[in-house]
Amino acid sequence: MRFEKLDIAVAGAGIGGLSLALMLAMRGARVVVYDQMVAPRPVGSGFVLQPTGAAVLSHLGLLDRAAARGAVIHRMHGKLAGTNKTVLEIGYGASRHGIAIQRVALFDILLDAAIAAGVTFETSSRVIDMNGGERPTIVLGGSRTAPSADLVVDAMGAGSPLGHIAAKELGYGALWATVPWPQDGPFHPHELEQRYHRASRMAGVLPVGTAADGAPAMATFFWSLRNRDIDTWRSAGREAWLTEVAAMWPETVPFAAIAEPVHARYRHHTRRPIAGRRVLRIGDAWHATSPQLGQGANMALLDAASLVLALERSDGIDQALKLHLRQRQWHIRLYQTLSRVMTPFYQSDSGLLPVVRDLAIAPATQLSLVRLLVSRLVTGEFLDPIKRIGL
Ligand SMILES: Cc1cc2nc3c(=O)[nH]c(=O)nc-3n(C[C@H](O)[C@H](O)[C@H](O)COP(=O)(O)OP(=O)(O)OC[C@H]3O[C@@H](n4cnc5c(N)ncnc54)[C@H](O)[C@@H]3O)c2cc1C
Repeated sequence: MRFEKLDIAVAGAGIGGLSLALMLAMRGARVVVYDQMVAPRPVGSGFVLQPTGAAVLSHLGLLDRAAARGAVIHRMHGKLAGTNKTVLEIGYGASRHGIAIQRVALFDILLDAAIAAGVTFETSSRVIDMNGGERPTIVLGGSRTAPSADLVVDAMGAGSPLGHIAAKELGYGALWATVPWPQDGPFHPHELEQRYHRASRMAGVLPVGTAADGAPAMATFFWSLRNRDIDTWRSAGREAWLTEVAAMWPETVPFAAIAEPVHARYRHHTRRPIAGRRVLRIGDAWHATSPQLGQGANMALLDAASLVLALERSDGIDQALKLHLRQRQWHIRLYQTLSRVMTPFYQSDSGLLPVVRDLAIAPATQLSLVRLLVSRLVTGEFLDPIKRIGL
């Protein structure tokens, strides 16, 4: 397709929306991004760019910049709280690694590149609906309708108002905080470390590099919490939390002592990717999960790249959408299923599942074939999504 003739409207300036807008504009399309934020800014703390997401950033020419800000991750390692018993051990292997990065760092890299490529941003624009058709439109709050486009994309994340189902919220979320990285230990600079107490408690520390050139290195600290316990946690106060943290993982008390945590709720849903004629969902608006498998941001990047490459190889938009869905649907189905199955082993009230995790799954993952499969699973490379989208 000739991109110079395309008008594309994207709702949501998150990881999926920004990378899509950038990739389209780099090929000559006219792109407008609508976001409810007063000024574009990232939501959340840090996450791991897997080889899948990194391949998309490399295609955009931005991987070196992301790598310079982030921290290389070679291993994910989890122990039972208060013991030395390892129940999670995932290595990337010799030829692969993850890049843990602050959300703000990746956001700034994508935003700067998108502005330079000519993407237009409409901030303070809350999207409330979309109308499908030959020339679809976005309906904005305040009874405004955006100019029609050739294609409209919902990249409004898990909370997208289009087809919102409140019941899809999971029982557990987590407190997330960005805290200074302690240079002299006790944490490994290239590992995601976790501690578990049954499945009802989980804490993690992830080195996430710097937000900007010259800024200090930081860590993401997360603390799993039932949504219904958030008010109790708040009213109990910091001292009570510090006592709990000390009992679970004493080395993380200095993080909890200064953290200004944000409580994130998780959702699990798979909405229909097509929300109307020439209205498409990508990223969490299409498929949201708990961050247990650490794939969401990488999936959003893959969706964006898949759509643009499908447009490039097709004669029309409808044909491109079909190709894009063929490229992405099996990978998404697999990871949605795995995430649904795996999450309760780490975040639930079950007494049985953590026992199965510790006594059966953990030893099985020591077998070399299983270890390889689990490693491929965590890197996001099962079903070879990069090749599938033709990157
Ligand atoms: C706490 C937490 C930890 C995570 N950890 C990881 C991890 O380690 N690895 C990983 O790969 N993924 C992780 N994820 C998942 C990852 O963050 C998401 O999958 C990813 O951000 C999805 O990108 P997106 O572009 O679809 O949506 P988002 O990044 O959520 O962006 C949505 C955008 O839409 C805008 N918007 C929303 N509603 C409206 C509206 N009505 N009108 C206009 N604009 C709107 C928002 O302002 C936002 O800018 C984590 C998620 C959470 C919450």
